[in-house]
Amino acid sequence: MKRSIFRWFKDVSIAKKLYFTVGIMALLIAIELLALFFSINTLSSVRAYVGGEGLWSKAQKDALYQLLEYARTRNEASYAKFEGFMKVSLGDHKARIELSKPNPNLDIVREGFAEGRNHPDDIDGMIKLFRRFHSNLYIHRAIVAWTQADEVITGFVAIGQQLHEAINTVPYSQEKVTAILNQVDPLNDRLTPMEDEFSFALGEGSRWLEGNVLKLLFIIALTVECTGLTLAITVSNGIQKGLKEILLSTNTAAKGDFSRKARIFSRDEIGVLAGNFNAMSEELERLVRENKEVNNSLEKKVRQRTSEMESKNKELEQFAYVASHDLQEPLRTIAGFVDLLQKEYQPKLDGNGKVYLTYLSQAAFRMRTLIKDLLDYSRIGREREVQPVDINHLLEEVLADLGKSIRDSDGVITAGPMPILQVYPTELKLLFQNLIANAIKFHHPDRQPEIWISAQQEEHHCVFAVADNGIGIEPQFLDRIFIIFQRLHNRTKYEGSGIGLAHCKKIVEMHEGKIWVESKPGLGSQFYFTISTDL
Ligand code: ADP
Repeated sequence: MKRSIFRWFKDVSIAKKLYFTVGIMALLIAIELLALFFSINTLSSVRAYVGGEGLWSKAQKDALYQLLEYARTRNEASYAKFEGFMKVSLGDHKARIELSKPNPNLDIVREGFAEGRNHPDDIDGMIKLFRRFHSNLYIHRAIVAWTQADEVITGFVAIGQQLHEAINTVPYSQEKVTAILNQVDPLNDRLTPMEDEFSFALGEGSRWLEGNVLKLLFIIALTVECTGLTLAITVSNGIQKGLKEILLSTNTAAKGDFSRKARIFSRDEIGVLAGNFNAMSEELERLVRENKEVNNSLEKKVRQRTSEMESKNKELEQFAYVASHDLQEPLRTIAGFVDLLQKEYQPKLDGNGKVYLTYLSQAAFRMRTLIKDLLDYSRIGREREVQPVDINHLLEEVLADLGKSIRDSDGVITAGPMPILQVYPTELKLLFQNLIANAIKFHHPDRQPEIWISAQQEEHHCVFAVADNGIGIEPQFLDRIFIIFQRLHNRTKYEGSGIGLAHCKKIVEMHEGKIWVESKPGLGSQFYFTISTDL
């Protein structure tokens, strides 16, 4: 039972916990107020009895005085006053007798107390005190004293009647009257200690009650404090513990580890939050796992594709090497004869013959260029000495070499400051030449070609960029263009061999670097390459 209440308290919502705490406190405070109200009422009733006793004792003295007056003056008016004062004590007597019965008639009791001249507002409290506490030690002592005093009062009434009778008897006997009056003092002497006992008992009772009430109030106040404190600590500890758990798990999750789950201590809002957090981190863990798997398989594919491309490149390189060597000799022969034909026979040929010979000469020229490119490409790597080169000068030379095509295309070239590096100068020059020539060649027909060349020094390498505002490259071709003989654009429109970028790649690799391109079709391309600064 105790456990289930504890469990229930743990699991209810935080708002309910707070309401419960405040509710318990309010209940305890109400109990405290009730106890206070009850004690004040009880003490006020004790005060009413003490006051009643004062009235009782005064009436008693007055009655005695009137009795003695009556004996001295034999005036009936004094006797009537005597009877009047005696009514006070007799009223209280009537109330006590009725209250002592198991089922007292409260009207008679009220009547009796009223005759005892008690204040009407006090009477109900006096009745309650008598009935509730008659067995209490102090109240019981007071009632005993009151009962004994009532017996003495009955004695007084009897003396009064005897005196009245003696005074009204003819012949009047002074001896008899004196004998009757002699009974008064002993009775009066008996009464005083009873009155004292009554007052003392009530006084002690009220002090006892006050002490107990104070203790009770103190205990209730302590209970209110302790309960409030315990509930507040329990609630705040619960919240703190739950939040700490969630915090630890979120901290771990923030570092990318979703394996730590928040422990759930309750089913309140914090518990629900922890549960939701756990579900979320499980989902994230699953996603990360899946992502890793996808990444791994992607990486595998990329590796596979790269190695495929590298082997394709090697095959093509091999071909280029063989072709350049084996074609060189026959081509030289063809070119020689074409030259001879042009010099010796062209004037003798008719119109068609001249045109055919021109075609032949142009084709031979293109083939020579191709073979030259291939030979250049195959020769890369033979130059083994790096030299310190001011790239600013090197770039100036390149731009001077390309001067005519730049001017023809109306191109604008902007170059940033370049570093001095240890490089293979001939190769690097070729690299810049290829990239800038391509940027001019693939310019956008509707725009003036613009080319930006920049360099940025990093810790172990320098990053160069050659950017243009040309026709750009479709994304699906980006990884292909560095393979030899790859030409993406219209071959009749753009002349070329598809060797240039493969050449660039080789040169960059000689410099322990990488080359890559970023491009937006229709807007332009940015070629980047790095060169190691530790060569
Ligand atoms: P080539 O220029 O002789 O065709 P390259 O190897 O230099 O051969 O270039 C390969 C292909 O890459 C080109 O045919 C062209 O389709 C594309 N390309 C190279 N540079 C650029 C550029 N700056 N802008 C657009 N396309 C380019």
